[in-house]
Amino acid sequence: MPLLSSKIILNNALQKNYLVGAFNVNNLELFKAVISTAEKEASPVIIQVSLGAIKYAGIDFLQAIVQTAEKTSTVNFALHLDHGKTFEDCVNAINHGFTSVMIDGSSLTFNDNVSLTKKVVDYAHKFNVSVEGEIGTIAGIEDNVNVIDENSLYTNSDEAIKFAKLTGVDSLAIAIGTKHGAFKFAGEPNLKVGIAKEIHYKLPNLPLVLHGASNVPDYLVEKINKYGGKLKKAKGVPESIITSLIGTGICKINIDSDLRIAFTATIREYLFNNPECIDPREYLGVAMTEVQNLVSHKICLFNLLKNK
Ligand SMILES: [Zn+2]
Repeated sequence: MPLLSSKIILNNALQKNYLVGAFNVNNLELFKAVISTAEKEASPVIIQVSLGAIKYAGIDFLQAIVQTAEKTSTVNFALHLDHGKTFEDCVNAINHGFTSVMIDGSSLTFNDNVSLTKKVVDYAHKFNVSVEGEIGTIAGIEDNVNVIDENSLYTNSDEAIKFAKLTGVDSLAIAIGTKHGAFKFAGEPNLKVGIAKEIHYKLPNLPLVLHGASNVPDYLVEKINKYGGKLKKAKGVPESIITSLIGTGICKINIDSDLRIAFTATIREYLFNNPECIDPREYLGVAMTEVQNLVSHKICLFNLLKNK
Protein backbone atom coordinates (compact mmCIF):
# COMPACT_ATOMS: atom_id res chain seq x y z
CA MET A 1 0.00 0.00 0.00
CA PRO A 2 1.24 3.52 -0.64
CA LEU A 3 2.51 5.43 2.35
CA LEU A 4 0.00 7.72 4.02
CA SER A 5 0.64 10.92 5.91
CA SER A 6 0.38 10.45 9.64
CA LYS A 7 -2.38 13.09 9.60
CA ILE A 8 -4.74 10.66 7.86
CA ILE A 9 -3.80 7.80 10.18
CA LEU A 10 -4.09 9.88 13.35
CA ASN A 11 -7.31 11.68 12.43
CA ASN A 12 -8.92 8.31 11.86
CA ALA A 13 -7.69 7.11 15.26
CA LEU A 14 -8.95 10.27 16.92
CA GLN A 15 -12.40 9.92 15.40
CA LYS A 16 -12.70 6.21 16.13
CA ASN A 17 -11.14 6.34 19.60
CA TYR A 18 -8.09 4.18 19.36
CA LEU A 19 -4.35 4.67 19.66
CA VAL A 20 -1.70 4.29 17.00
CA GLY A 21 1.73 2.94 17.83
CA ALA A 22 4.63 4.94 16.47
CA PHE A 23 7.63 2.62 16.61
CA ASN A 24 11.24 3.72 16.22
CA VAL A 25 13.37 1.65 13.88
CA ASN A 26 17.00 1.96 12.88
CA ASN A 27 17.76 -1.24 11.00
CA LEU A 28 16.25 -3.83 8.72
CA GLU A 29 15.35 -6.22 11.54
CA LEU A 30 13.37 -3.69 13.58
CA PHE A 31 11.63 -2.38 10.48
CA LYS A 32 10.60 -5.84 9.31
CA ALA A 33 9.47 -6.82 12.79
CA VAL A 34 7.19 -3.77 13.10
CA ILE A 35 5.68 -3.81 9.63
CA SER A 36 5.09 -7.59 9.59
CA THR A 37 3.32 -7.37 12.95
CA ALA A 38 1.13 -4.48 11.82
CA GLU A 39 0.17 -6.64 8.84
CA LYS A 40 -0.60 -9.62 11.06
CA GLU A 41 -2.76 -7.45 13.31
CA ALA A 42 -4.26 -5.58 10.32
CA SER A 43 -3.50 -2.29 12.06
CA PRO A 44 -2.19 1.01 10.73
CA VAL A 45 1.19 1.93 12.10
CA ILE A 46 3.68 4.77 12.12
CA ILE A 47 7.31 3.91 11.46
CA GLN A 48 9.60 6.47 13.06
CA VAL A 49 13.19 7.27 12.26
CA SER A 50 15.27 9.60 14.41
CA LEU A 51 18.25 11.69 13.35
CA GLY A 52 20.44 9.16 15.17
CA ALA A 53 18.89 6.34 13.14
CA ILE A 54 19.56 8.26 9.93
CA LYS A 55 23.18 8.79 10.98
CA TYR A 56 23.52 5.08 11.79
CA ALA A 57 21.77 3.48 8.82
CA GLY A 58 21.93 6.17 6.14
CA ILE A 59 18.77 7.83 4.89
CA ASP A 60 19.05 6.29 1.41
CA PHE A 61 19.20 2.77 2.85
CA LEU A 62 16.21 3.48 5.09
CA GLN A 63 14.29 4.92 2.15
CA ALA A 64 15.02 1.82 0.07
CA ILE A 65 13.72 -0.47 2.82
CA VAL A 66 10.52 1.56 3.11
CA GLN A 67 10.01 1.72 -0.65
CA THR A 68 10.29 -2.06 -0.80
CA ALA A 69 7.70 -2.45 1.94
CA GLU A 70 5.42 0.01 0.19
CA LYS A 71 5.13 -2.37 -2.75
CA THR A 72 4.14 -5.37 -0.65
CA SER A 73 2.55 -4.00 2.51
CA THR A 74 -1.07 -4.83 3.27
CA VAL A 75 -1.53 -2.11 5.92
CA ASN A 76 -1.53 1.66 5.94
CA PHE A 77 1.63 3.09 7.34
CA ALA A 78 3.44 6.41 7.56
CA LEU A 79 7.14 7.16 7.60
CA HIS A 80 7.84 9.80 10.21
CA LEU A 81 10.93 11.79 11.18
CA ASP A 82 11.23 11.73 14.96
CA HIS A 83 12.67 14.86 16.64
CA GLY A 84 13.83 16.79 13.60
CA LYS A 85 15.85 19.69 14.96
CA THR A 86 16.16 22.03 11.99
CA PHE A 87 14.22 23.07 8.91
CA GLU A 88 16.90 21.31 6.84
CA ASP A 89 16.38 18.03 8.72
CA CYS A 90 12.73 18.12 7.69
CA VAL A 91 13.46 19.06 4.06
CA ASN A 92 15.95 16.20 3.83
CA ALA A 93 13.39 13.74 5.17
CA ILE A 94 10.70 14.99 2.78
CA ASN A 95 13.15 14.66 -0.12
CA HIS A 96 13.61 11.02 0.89
CA GLY A 97 9.96 10.08 0.88
CA PHE A 98 8.95 10.70 4.49
CA THR A 99 5.23 11.39 4.77
CA SER A 100 5.43 12.99 8.17
CA VAL A 101 8.01 15.02 10.07
CA MET A 102 8.42 16.23 13.61
CA ILE A 103 10.05 19.57 14.17
CA ASP A 104 11.15 19.76 17.78
CA GLY A 105 11.57 23.40 18.67
CA SER A 106 10.70 22.77 22.31
CA SER A 107 14.07 24.00 23.56
CA LEU A 108 13.54 27.38 21.85
CA THR A 109 11.59 30.35 23.12
CA PHE A 110 7.86 30.23 22.36
CA ASN A 111 8.16 32.73 19.50
CA ASP A 112 11.16 31.01 17.93
CA ASN A 113 9.44 27.63 18.23
CA VAL A 114 6.38 29.09 16.48
CA SER A 115 8.38 30.58 13.61
CA LEU A 116 10.51 27.47 13.02
CA THR A 117 7.50 25.16 13.18
CA LYS A 118 5.40 27.41 10.92
CA LYS A 119 8.21 27.45 8.36
CA VAL A 120 8.29 23.64 8.34
CA VAL A 121 4.48 23.42 8.15
CA ASP A 122 4.34 25.81 5.17
CA TYR A 123 6.97 23.76 3.34
CA ALA A 124 5.74 20.28 4.27
CA HIS A 125 2.12 20.94 3.38
CA LYS A 126 3.10 21.68 -0.22
CA PHE A 127 4.05 17.99 -0.41
CA ASN A 128 1.10 16.67 1.64
CA VAL A 129 3.52 15.83 4.42
CA SER A 130 2.15 16.24 7.93
CA VAL A 131 3.96 17.97 10.75
CA GLU A 132 4.21 17.21 14.46
CA GLY A 133 5.27 20.08 16.70
CA GLU A 134 6.31 19.99 20.34
CA ILE A 135 5.47 22.37 23.14
CA GLY A 136 6.85 21.81 26.62
CA THR A 137 9.98 19.76 27.06
CA ILE A 138 9.96 16.00 27.45
CA ALA A 139 12.70 14.89 29.80
CA GLY A 140 15.12 12.00 29.47
CA ILE A 141 17.55 10.67 26.93
CA GLU A 142 16.88 9.71 23.34
CA ASP A 143 18.88 10.09 20.15
CA ASN A 144 19.92 13.72 20.00
CA VAL A 145 17.50 14.54 22.77
CA ASN A 146 18.96 14.93 26.24
CA VAL A 147 16.98 16.96 28.70
CA ILE A 148 17.81 16.92 32.38
CA ASP A 149 14.92 16.76 34.79
CA GLU A 150 15.34 20.28 36.08
CA ASN A 151 14.59 21.60 32.60
CA SER A 152 11.68 19.33 31.98
CA LEU A 153 8.38 21.09 31.91
CA TYR A 154 4.79 20.17 31.85
CA THR A 155 3.09 21.69 28.84
CA ASN A 156 1.02 24.77 29.53
CA SER A 157 -2.32 24.05 27.88
CA ASP A 158 -3.10 27.67 26.94
CA GLU A 159 0.32 27.98 25.32
CA ALA A 160 -0.20 24.72 23.46
CA ILE A 161 -3.53 25.89 22.04
CA LYS A 162 -1.99 29.18 20.94
CA PHE A 163 0.97 27.31 19.44
CA ALA A 164 -1.24 24.95 17.46
CA LYS A 165 -3.32 27.81 16.07
CA LEU A 166 -0.32 29.92 15.11
CA THR A 167 1.62 27.12 13.43
CA GLY A 168 -1.08 24.96 11.83
CA VAL A 169 0.60 21.74 13.00
CA ASP A 170 -1.16 18.47 12.20
CA SER A 171 -0.33 16.90 15.55
CA LEU A 172 1.24 18.09 18.76
CA ALA A 173 3.61 16.43 21.23
CA ILE A 174 2.93 17.55 24.76
CA ALA A 175 4.78 17.02 28.04
CA ILE A 176 2.59 15.43 30.71
CA GLY A 177 5.34 13.89 32.82
CA THR A 178 6.71 11.00 30.74
CA LYS A 179 10.40 10.74 29.96
CA HIS A 180 12.49 9.33 27.14
CA GLY A 181 14.65 6.28 27.83
CA ALA A 182 14.40 3.24 30.11
CA PHE A 183 14.61 5.11 33.44
CA LYS A 184 11.45 7.16 33.55
CA PHE A 185 10.45 7.30 37.19
CA ALA A 186 12.23 7.02 40.53
CA GLY A 187 8.91 6.65 42.36
CA GLU A 188 5.33 6.42 41.18
CA PRO A 189 4.64 8.09 37.81
CA ASN A 190 2.99 11.48 38.15
CA LEU A 191 1.37 11.99 34.79
CA LYS A 192 -0.92 14.97 34.31
CA VAL A 193 -3.41 13.67 31.77
CA GLY A 194 -5.59 16.70 32.50
CA ILE A 195 -3.25 18.80 30.36
CA ALA A 196 -4.18 16.72 27.31
CA LYS A 197 -7.86 16.88 28.19
CA GLU A 198 -7.81 20.67 28.41
CA ILE A 199 -6.15 20.98 25.01
CA HIS A 200 -8.47 18.37 23.52
CA TYR A 201 -11.53 20.23 24.83
CA LYS A 202 -10.49 23.40 22.97
CA LEU A 203 -9.01 21.69 19.90
CA PRO A 204 -10.95 18.42 19.52
CA ASN A 205 -9.60 17.70 16.04
CA LEU A 206 -5.91 17.98 16.91
CA PRO A 207 -4.19 14.62 17.51
CA LEU A 208 -1.91 14.78 20.54
CA VAL A 209 1.29 12.75 20.85
CA LEU A 210 2.78 10.99 23.86
CA HIS A 211 6.56 10.64 23.77
CA GLY A 212 8.47 8.51 26.26
CA ALA A 213 5.59 6.03 26.44
CA SER A 214 7.51 2.75 26.67
CA ASN A 215 6.37 0.32 29.35
CA VAL A 216 9.84 -1.14 30.07
CA PRO A 217 8.38 -4.59 30.89
CA ASP A 218 9.77 -6.28 34.01
CA TYR A 219 10.27 -9.65 32.27
CA LEU A 220 12.56 -8.07 29.70
CA VAL A 221 14.50 -6.02 32.25
CA GLU A 222 14.96 -9.21 34.31
CA LYS A 223 16.19 -11.04 31.23
CA ILE A 224 18.75 -8.32 30.48
CA ASN A 225 19.97 -8.37 34.08
CA LYS A 226 20.04 -12.18 34.19
CA TYR A 227 22.30 -12.41 31.18
CA GLY A 228 24.91 -9.84 32.14
CA GLY A 229 23.17 -6.51 31.51
CA LYS A 230 22.66 -3.70 33.98
CA LEU A 231 19.24 -2.10 33.96
CA LYS A 232 18.58 -2.31 37.67
CA LYS A 233 16.16 0.55 38.20
CA ALA A 234 14.53 0.78 34.80
CA LYS A 235 10.88 1.80 35.00
CA GLY A 236 8.35 2.71 32.33
CA VAL A 237 4.76 3.86 31.89
CA PRO A 238 2.23 1.33 33.28
CA GLU A 239 -0.12 -0.07 30.66
CA SER A 240 -3.11 0.96 32.78
CA ILE A 241 -2.12 4.58 32.19
CA ILE A 242 -1.82 4.04 28.45
CA THR A 243 -5.31 2.50 28.30
CA SER A 244 -6.71 5.41 30.32
CA LEU A 245 -5.77 7.87 27.58
CA ILE A 246 -8.96 7.32 25.63
CA GLY A 247 -10.82 10.57 25.07
CA THR A 248 -7.86 12.74 26.06
CA GLY A 249 -6.90 13.62 22.49
CA ILE A 250 -3.70 11.59 22.75
CA CYS A 251 -3.70 9.08 19.92
CA LYS A 252 -0.05 8.64 18.87
CA ILE A 253 2.01 6.58 21.29
CA ASN A 254 5.77 6.67 20.71
CA ILE A 255 7.64 3.47 21.50
CA ASP A 256 11.41 3.24 21.22
CA SER A 257 13.00 1.90 24.42
CA ASP A 258 10.75 -1.18 24.58
CA LEU A 259 11.93 -2.30 21.15
CA ARG A 260 15.57 -1.79 22.11
CA ILE A 261 15.09 -3.69 25.36
CA ALA A 262 13.28 -6.61 23.70
CA PHE A 263 15.89 -6.83 20.96
CA THR A 264 18.86 -6.66 23.32
CA ALA A 265 17.46 -8.96 26.01
CA THR A 266 16.85 -11.67 23.44
CA ILE A 267 20.30 -11.41 21.93
CA ARG A 268 21.92 -11.53 25.38
CA GLU A 269 19.96 -14.65 26.29
CA TYR A 270 20.63 -16.35 22.97
CA LEU A 271 24.36 -15.75 22.99
CA PHE A 272 24.62 -16.86 26.63
CA ASN A 273 22.81 -20.11 25.88
CA ASN A 274 24.57 -20.65 22.54
CA PRO A 275 28.17 -19.60 23.12
CA GLU A 276 29.29 -21.32 19.94
CA CYS A 277 26.98 -19.17 17.77
CA ILE A 278 28.67 -16.87 15.27
CA ASP A 279 25.80 -16.49 12.80
CA PRO A 280 24.03 -13.11 13.11
CA ARG A 281 20.96 -14.58 11.44
CA GLU A 282 20.42 -16.82 14.44
CA TYR A 283 20.42 -14.18 17.18
CA LEU A 284 18.92 -11.41 15.04
CA GLY A 285 16.21 -13.83 13.99
CA VAL A 286 15.12 -14.61 17.55
CA ALA A 287 15.42 -10.91 18.44
CA MET A 288 13.05 -10.06 15.61
CA THR A 289 10.55 -12.61 16.87
CA GLU A 290 10.65 -11.08 20.37
CA VAL A 291 10.10 -7.59 18.91
CA GLN A 292 7.18 -8.96 16.90
CA ASN A 293 5.64 -10.36 20.09
CA LEU A 294 6.06 -7.04 21.84
CA VAL A 295 4.64 -4.97 18.98
CA SER A 296 1.73 -7.38 18.66
CA HIS A 297 0.96 -6.92 22.36
CA LYS A 298 1.12 -3.12 22.00
CA ILE A 299 -1.14 -3.03 18.96
CA CYS A 300 -3.73 -5.21 20.70
CA LEU A 301 -3.58 -2.94 23.75
CA PHE A 302 -3.96 0.20 21.63
CA ASN A 303 -6.79 -1.26 19.58
CA LEU A 304 -8.63 -2.52 22.66
CA LEU A 305 -9.64 1.07 23.16
CA LYS A 306 -11.72 0.93 20.03
CA ASN A 307 -14.37 -0.98 21.90
CA LYS A 308 -14.38 0.97 25.16
ZN1 LIG B 1 10.49 11.74 21.70
